[in-house]
Amino acid sequence: MQSNIQWFPGHMAKAIRQFEANIKLVDVVFELVDARIPFTSINPEVSRISQGEPRLMILTKADLADPKLTQQWLRFFRTQGLVALAVDAKLTGVQKKIENAARTLLTTKLAAQSERGMERQTIKAICVGVPNVGKSTLLNQLVQRRSAPVGNRPGVTKGQQWLTGNGHLELLDTPGILWPKFQNQTVAEELALTGAIRDSAYHSDDVALFALQFFRTTNPTVLQERYRLQASALELPAPELLLLITANLGMRDDYERASDRIITDVRKGKLGRFTLDEPQDVVTDEH
Ligand code: GDP
Repeated sequence: MQSNIQWFPGHMAKAIRQFEANIKLVDVVFELVDARIPFTSINPEVSRISQGEPRLMILTKADLADPKLTQQWLRFFRTQGLVALAVDAKLTGVQKKIENAARTLLTTKLAAQSERGMERQTIKAICVGVPNVGKSTLLNQLVQRRSAPVGNRPGVTKGQQWLTGNGHLELLDTPGILWPKFQNQTVAEELALTGAIRDSAYHSDDVALFALQFFRTTNPTVLQERYRLQASALELPAPELLLLITANLGMRDDYERASDRIITDVRKGKLGRFTLDEPQDVVTDEH
């Protein structure tokens, strides 16, 4: 794994400043994490900055994740006092689900405002999360594409706009893009495998080897079928297994290309639904 998959400190500082300014404008933060790596794709700055502000934890790509582990993660987040839900951000209907959850989360706040005579129809929100987690996809769903920007408002970063949809949500048009954390090799590999860091930032064979290690223990049958492997092949050291798969794919010794194929297969769910993080690892894991 190359070591250059770091964010520049300047970018981080800017992202934090922007998020700190934006949070003052919204009622609720929609914190998006990838359901396949719910812990790895968390940016700790979100909870630090949004301390005390209502936050809805949205596990995206739940359609690609292991459903049992998704349930475990939802329970885990709820024990942390968070309101959490899992979605396929591409499905219609996601807007209602999120709006209802946001309304429930804000019950006290909205009731207090209503007592003061401020009846509120709309809820203002911002989406934040690491690259590729589904921020734009969800934003498009929430504002249902047909909506138009409603213009600038005081305090909003120049050029930033509120988007509204058919529902009662107003979203800032610029989602908060946060950097992923790179505490250790495993974290970086998980981010690479799920697509949260750009392809040029890692060696695909490292990531493919990581994937093979994972799938041969969690889902050996699908690995065998996909790459036409004998059961005994799964006992091979991972680099040899990769070479064998390269040959089976008819790619001679182009193991870089085979690695890319494996990564694409994983991301598309061709090796089945999977989740790389488990809640029970959080206590002991140092990432
Ligand atoms: P952003 O960088 O956070 O704005 O992420 P995008 O919204 O651009 O999504 C990145 C990729 O993930 C796109 O190819 C989306 O179609 C896909 N995607 C987003 N959400 C989901 C989801 O819930 N399920 C699946 N299967 N794909 C998703």
